[in-house]
Amino acid sequence: MDRVPRHLFVDARHQAQAYNDHPLPIGYGQTISQPYMVAVMTELLQLDPQARVLEIGTGSGFQTAVLAELAGQVFSVEQVLALHEVARERLAGLGYRNVELRYGDGYHGWPEHAPYDAIIVTCAPDHVPAPLVEQLANEGRMVLPVGAVGREQRLVLVTRRGEHIQQRDLMAVAFVPLTGGHEQIPY
Ligand code: SAH
Repeated sequence: MDRVPRHLFVDARHQAQAYNDHPLPIGYGQTISQPYMVAVMTELLQLDPQARVLEIGTGSGFQTAVLAELAGQVFSVEQVLALHEVARERLAGLGYRNVELRYGDGYHGWPEHAPYDAIIVTCAPDHVPAPLVEQLANEGRMVLPVGAVGREQRLVLVTRRGEHIQQRDLMAVAFVPLTGGHEQIPY
């Protein structure tokens, strides 16, 4: 995380606060996540330098960059076009070559590049999306906030061993909701 300059992922007027441990607005009603939460979620993924990672909710691209520092290849989906475009320029400008970004609804993941050793969702659906579980590799790990809008959200760790899927409830969290025109397919 030290290698990723967080002040370059926020507007000029928020740069002075960029190294404080809290979320900041990035426009379009969205936020760059709290650094502590980026650390917790990244650690839970147990990435190695070969790992293929899927992220849902590129936002500023800060979490994407942290993943790119640790993993082999990072795929990230964002459904606000302006955020997707800014993140693309920013990550390219910082020299990240192992990142692919897609504009669209991440509820359905990115099946073309599946399976993923790790999946991270940085916006909250109200259930664990089945398409994401299906795109998890054997021994893969997914971390995501789950909770209905206006209700408490829980950070959940999903692990796959063959056909055995385990879900662990970890802690209370607060993320922006996962929105989109998806058909709901709860796992
Ligand atoms: N990791 C980002 C978090 C941004 S907030 C950061 O630290 O900057 C979560 C992001 O998820 C927002 O940018 C929001 O637009 C996006 N999002 C919400 N629903 C989505 C969906 N269905 N598909 C893809 N992205 C989504």
